[in-house]
Amino acid sequence: TSMLRLHDIKKDYIVADSKVHALKGVSLSFRKNEFVSILGPSGCGKTTLLNIVGGLDKYTEGDLFINGKSTKDFTDRDWDVYRNHRVGFIFQSYNLIPHQTVLGNVELALTIAGISKKERQERAKRALDRVGLDNQYYKMPNQLSGGQCQRVAIARALVNEPEILLADEPTGALDTITSVQIMDLIKEIAKERLVIMVTHNPDLAEKYSTRIIKLLDGEVQEDSNPFKEKDEIKEVSVLKDETKTEKAKMSLGTAIKLSFTNLYLKRKRTSMVSFAGSIGIVGVSLVLAFSAGIHNYIESMQDDMLSGNPITIAEEAYDASLLLESTSQQNIVQAIKPQNGYVNVNSVVDYLLKMNEQKSNIMVTNDINQQYIDFINDMPNEYYSDISLRYGIDPTNNFYTNFKVNGEDEGEIRSLSSIVTNYKEVLGETEEYSDLAPFIDLFYDSVSQAPGNEEYIRSQYDILEGKVAQEANEIMIVVSKNTDLTDIVLGELGYYTQDEFLNIAYKALEDEKYNPDTDKRQFTYEELLGRKITYYPNDTVYNKVVTTTGTTTRTSFTYNYLEDLETFENGFELEIVGILRAKDVISYGCLESGFYYTPAFTSKFIEDSMQSEIVTYLNENDMDSFSTIPNDKNPLGNPVRYTLSYRPNSDGEVKTKSATLGRPSSMGLLSSMVGSSTSSTLAGLKTLTLRDLGGCNIASEIRVYPVNFEQKGTVIDYLEKWNSDSDITLSNGTVIKVEDRTDITYTDQVGLIISMINTMIDIISYALIAFTALSLVVSTVMIGIITYVSVVERIKEIGVIRSLGGRKRDVSNLFIAETVMIGLFSGVMGIGSTYLVSLIVNLCLKPLVGFNLASLPIVQAVLMICVSVVLTLISGIIPAKSAANKDPVIALRTE
Ligand code: ADP
Ligand code: MG
Repeated sequence: TSMLRLHDIKKDYIVADSKVHALKGVSLSFRKNEFVSILGPSGCGKTTLLNIVGGLDKYTEGDLFINGKSTKDFTDRDWDVYRNHRVGFIFQSYNLIPHQTVLGNVELALTIAGISKKERQERAKRALDRVGLDNQYYKMPNQLSGGQCQRVAIARALVNEPEILLADEPTGALDTITSVQIMDLIKEIAKERLVIMVTHNPDLAEKYSTRIIKLLDGEVQEDSNPFKEKDEIKEVSVLKDETKTEKAKMSLGTAIKLSFTNLYLKRKRTSMVSFAGSIGIVGVSLVLAFSAGIHNYIESMQDDMLSGNPITIAEEAYDASLLLESTSQQNIVQAIKPQNGYVNVNSVVDYLLKMNEQKSNIMVTNDINQQYIDFINDMPNEYYSDISLRYGIDPTNNFYTNFKVNGEDEGEIRSLSSIVTNYKEVLGETEEYSDLAPFIDLFYDSVSQAPGNEEYIRSQYDILEGKVAQEANEIMIVVSKNTDLTDIVLGELGYYTQDEFLNIAYKALEDEKYNPDTDKRQFTYEELLGRKITYYPNDTVYNKVVTTTGTTTRTSFTYNYLEDLETFENGFELEIVGILRAKDVISYGCLESGFYYTPAFTSKFIEDSMQSEIVTYLNENDMDSFSTIPNDKNPLGNPVRYTLSYRPNSDGEVKTKSATLGRPSSMGLLSSMVGSSTSSTLAGLKTLTLRDLGGCNIASEIRVYPVNFEQKGTVIDYLEKWNSDSDITLSNGTVIKVEDRTDITYTDQVGLIISMINTMIDIISYALIAFTALSLVVSTVMIGIITYVSVVERIKEIGVIRSLGGRKRDVSNLFIAETVMIGLFSGVMGIGSTYLVSLIVNLCLKPLVGFNLASLPIVQAVLMICVSVVLTLISGIIPAKSAANKDPVIALRTE
């Protein structure tokens, strides 16, 4: 057998509905070593024949034998290997890949064969040397002349040392002199292999080839030296060793490298595409960055916020879940549609009633009893920093301090509550300040109870002077972050003389009575710590008075607001021992600015008060409080009265005023804030409760300060145990049975706020991501289109790769690698821009908001790059598939 034998090869092309018979039964045999020229007019089927011999095109009928083996059962893979190892192609139009160097073009065939870089280069250089291009390795194809290009093409065809060289009009585009040079070169090559050359130049065919086949209308017309049986004997010995492992496989790395050089060559376009693609990534990443930044901030705030907002169990609490439910029911009173000719009645009465109903539904009353307190006290120590028990006491009626009307006065020792009343009266004297007076009530709690854990306080507060109050006779001052205290609190504690305090009001109202000389803006530590406060128990300050008029006996109490050294006994002096300020890192400490007594004092106060006359009276009469509103027990209203004497100014005459004791009721506070004149009677409403008087030794409020945000969960789990369905055994063995307990609602404000904020941020983020994702879709489609354009542009290259034995897979890998790289560029570019924008935003806004607003987590950054790659990959798959499926013959025919 000959090395190549065509047996009755027919080739039909189907164009529209008709068939074109390009080859009509060609039978030919070729020798291992000859130079065959195929001559014939244009359109007679020369190129078709060559492509079939080269395995680029498939014959319709007949058979092609390679080394005596039929190719009828050849797979795509077999054809790829055949082209890569046995055939070299040369085309009229050279078909060099424009974005590869001369060396790169020659290497391509070896690259597809999967040969190592070093060997590839050596062999490619040898092939180039052989065609006389030993100094042009690194030139680009467009820097070469036509003849040089064809030499490169020849080198590329030879580099695999094929047995067959197929040349389709190799000199068709060259001038005569160059043609001769190329023909000489081909002749030289033909010495050691089979060369089949298509030409329409009979002179060249005559001069160079050893055999001329003339083709006409798809049939062999003449063969000058047909293959004869006697040639076979010579042939057998030189048949190529077929056992040699043959492969044609381009590695993925090669595909990436090829794509990279292509992208590099078109770097302007690549960077523009990547930039466009990155916009979507930037959008989504920025949203993620802001979302993460705010989440981070909230997380960092959690521990901090916790100390200012402990978990609270109060006698009266709002049920947060019900609260949210009720606010969503917007219209509690059905509104009537406006109608022409009618004015609708808006029922305020109805509204108020319904509001009140709702309010009482939302309010939960917790039954805090001794068992519950035992249960709370049994909480493992490691869960919390402090548990603070509040009894709702108001010791301002029992605290006495020096108060001066003006600077020169000796002053008097008065109760703190009477100082407040004094200011109200003095301010209320004149028309222009009377509006100001009720506001003083808003700042009623001038002294309150601090948590007992010194270590916990020290962890949040710096001691500016002195120490943390611990003993019953110690009080401490907490100043704000700016190291200030409000004038009202200072006034209530007697730090100002009356004149100085009035001066503050004058100044605020820009009154001409304002005297800048007595404007006291600063206190030294010594001044603050120097003040003495004396506590007198209830029995000293309240005196029971029983009056009988006719048949009715009425019991009331008088209040001694002025210290009377004759009758005042059991005084207990408290000392202001320290000034504290929240540490810089603390935004919400456990103490706001103000004056604080200790839990030890609270105990003493309650112990004293429980046995006091006034408390006993309330208990005996089964009353919770004295109220200014008359009721059955007190037909005349508040029975705790006193006569306050005051001087409107330091040299004016003394006036007296009957005053009642107690806290302003919430209704009263509300009306004073609203400031309407009709509600001025409401503003006077006050109650003095059993709790105010220290007559209740069960806490009304419990504040649990968890150690940190993680421990908050365990604290809540512990509190939930109370509401569970099983008995609780305390560590001392006491069992609290289910039936003895009623559910207790705790308030976790921080948890509520944070979960609300977090959900809100999440909702906003999702919405924004959905919007910005649109731009991702747009860029994906765009990249798909651009890849498709690239496929069209590189159609020649696809043909070349296929003619060199590249698989369909190799071609699609090439385009997929290209899109993946664009995806990677856009991803990296997008993430880079995101970090850059984040940096700028943070630099600009950190001074304003105090934290890094944008901080994209690394994981999400990597994820976004992956998203970019995956999206562009998806967009690249369709164009890549279409590239792979391009018919190499058509691809090569395309001009
Ligand atoms: P030559 O190379 O001798 O000029 P070809 O082999 O290129 O001729 O073409 C032979 C015949 O087959 C021509 O009539 C041509 O129009 C037709 N032909 C070639 N390729 C195709 C194709 N892909 N589709 C349809 N007709 C084709
Ligand atoms: Mg042709």
